[in-house]
Amino acid sequence: MQDDLFGDAAPERKRTETWIVVDHLCSNCMGRLLKRRISPTVTEVRCAKCDARAIGSELELCWCGVNVGRHGKIFECIKNPNKRPEVPNAVLVREKPIVIAPPERRIVKSARSSEEILSIVHAGDF
Ligand SMILES: [Zn+2]
Ligand SMILES: [Zn+2]
Repeated sequence: MQDDLFGDAAPERKRTETWIVVDHLCSNCMGRLLKRRISPTVTEVRCAKCDARAIGSELELCWCGVNVGRHGKIFECIKNPNKRPEVPNAVLVREKPIVIAPPERRIVKSARSSEEILSIVHAGDF
Protein backbone atom coordinates (compact mmCIF):
# COMPACT_ATOMS: atom_id res chain seq x y z
CA MET A 1 0.00 0.00 0.00
CA GLN A 2 1.64 3.23 -1.20
CA ASP A 3 -0.56 5.39 1.00
CA ASP A 4 1.58 4.71 4.03
CA LEU A 5 4.84 5.89 2.50
CA PHE A 6 4.19 9.60 2.91
CA GLY A 7 2.01 9.41 5.97
CA ASP A 8 2.72 10.80 9.42
CA ALA A 9 6.32 9.69 9.73
CA ALA A 10 7.15 12.43 12.26
CA PRO A 11 9.06 14.70 9.85
CA GLU A 12 9.59 17.29 12.57
CA ARG A 13 11.60 15.03 14.81
CA LYS A 14 13.68 13.93 11.88
CA ARG A 15 14.58 17.50 11.02
CA THR A 16 15.86 18.43 14.47
CA GLU A 17 17.95 15.26 14.66
CA THR A 18 19.96 16.14 11.58
CA TRP A 19 23.54 16.88 12.57
CA ILE A 20 25.87 18.33 9.97
CA VAL A 21 29.58 17.57 10.16
CA VAL A 22 31.59 20.78 10.12
CA ASP A 23 35.26 21.36 9.31
CA HIS A 24 36.27 22.20 12.86
CA LEU A 25 37.79 20.12 15.63
CA CYS A 26 36.92 19.93 19.31
CA SER A 27 39.41 21.89 21.42
CA ASN A 28 38.93 19.33 24.18
CA CYS A 29 39.57 16.04 22.39
CA MET A 30 40.27 16.76 18.69
CA GLY A 31 37.00 15.10 17.72
CA ARG A 32 35.02 16.31 14.75
CA LEU A 33 32.28 18.82 15.53
CA LEU A 34 28.67 18.49 14.48
CA LYS A 35 26.06 21.19 14.17
CA ARG A 36 22.30 21.30 13.96
CA ARG A 37 19.61 23.92 13.81
CA ILE A 38 17.29 23.80 16.79
CA SER A 39 15.23 26.83 15.82
CA PRO A 40 15.24 29.24 12.88
CA THR A 41 17.82 31.42 14.63
CA VAL A 42 19.61 29.08 17.01
CA THR A 43 22.13 26.35 16.28
CA GLU A 44 23.60 23.79 18.61
CA VAL A 45 27.04 22.32 18.24
CA ARG A 46 28.49 19.17 19.75
CA CYS A 47 31.55 16.99 19.56
CA ALA A 48 31.15 13.60 17.91
CA LYS A 49 33.78 12.14 20.22
CA CYS A 50 33.48 13.57 23.75
CA ASP A 51 29.92 14.88 23.39
CA ALA A 52 30.79 18.42 24.52
CA ARG A 53 27.86 20.65 23.67
CA ALA A 54 27.21 24.34 23.25
CA ILE A 55 24.56 26.62 21.90
CA GLY A 56 25.87 28.73 19.08
CA SER A 57 28.33 28.13 16.28
CA GLU A 58 31.12 25.57 16.08
CA LEU A 59 33.47 28.35 17.19
CA GLU A 60 32.19 27.81 20.71
CA LEU A 61 33.96 24.46 20.88
CA CYS A 62 36.67 24.45 18.24
CA TRP A 63 40.28 25.64 18.07
CA CYS A 64 39.67 28.77 16.07
CA GLY A 65 40.88 31.74 18.07
CA VAL A 66 42.53 29.71 20.82
CA ASN A 67 45.73 31.39 21.87
CA VAL A 68 48.80 29.34 20.93
CA GLY A 69 50.76 30.65 23.90
CA ARG A 70 53.32 32.43 21.81
CA HIS A 71 52.97 36.09 21.12
CA GLY A 72 50.65 36.98 18.31
CA LYS A 73 49.50 33.54 17.22
CA ILE A 74 46.24 31.66 17.45
CA PHE A 75 45.02 28.28 16.32
CA GLU A 76 42.57 27.75 13.53
CA CYS A 77 40.87 24.71 12.04
CA ILE A 78 41.46 24.05 8.38
CA LYS A 79 40.36 21.45 5.93
CA ASN A 80 43.25 19.16 5.09
CA PRO A 81 44.38 20.38 1.66
CA ASN A 82 46.41 17.26 0.95
CA LYS A 83 44.96 14.08 2.43
CA ARG A 84 47.44 11.22 2.33
CA PRO A 85 48.22 8.11 4.40
CA GLU A 86 50.55 9.97 6.79
CA VAL A 87 47.97 12.70 7.36
CA PRO A 88 44.59 11.11 6.83
CA ASN A 89 42.70 13.64 8.96
CA ALA A 90 40.01 15.51 7.09
CA VAL A 91 40.51 18.54 9.29
CA LEU A 92 43.70 19.88 10.82
CA VAL A 93 44.57 22.56 13.31
CA ARG A 94 47.34 25.01 12.58
CA GLU A 95 48.77 28.20 13.96
CA LYS A 96 48.22 31.50 12.30
CA PRO A 97 49.41 34.97 13.16
CA ILE A 98 46.87 37.38 14.54
CA VAL A 99 46.52 40.06 11.94
CA ILE A 100 43.66 42.03 13.39
CA ALA A 101 42.26 41.31 16.83
CA PRO A 102 38.87 39.73 16.14
CA PRO A 103 36.23 41.86 17.85
CA GLU A 104 34.00 39.09 19.12
CA ARG A 105 36.43 36.35 19.94
CA ARG A 106 38.51 37.66 22.77
CA ILE A 107 38.11 34.67 25.06
CA VAL A 108 41.33 32.76 25.43
CA LYS A 109 40.61 29.11 25.93
CA SER A 110 43.10 26.74 27.49
CA ALA A 111 45.13 24.76 24.98
CA ARG A 112 45.26 21.56 26.94
CA SER A 113 46.44 19.15 24.31
CA SER A 114 48.58 21.56 22.37
CA GLU A 115 51.39 19.05 21.97
CA GLU A 116 49.08 16.70 20.14
CA ILE A 117 47.95 19.57 17.97
CA LEU A 118 51.45 20.66 17.12
CA SER A 119 52.48 17.17 16.08
CA ILE A 120 49.60 17.11 13.64
CA VAL A 121 50.43 20.59 12.40
CA HIS A 122 54.01 19.63 11.75
CA ALA A 123 53.06 16.37 10.11
CA GLY A 124 51.02 18.50 7.72
CA ASP A 125 54.20 20.26 6.65
CA PHE A 126 52.67 23.54 5.65
ZN1 LIG B 1 35.42 16.59 21.97
ZN1 LIG C 1 37.48 25.98 14.16
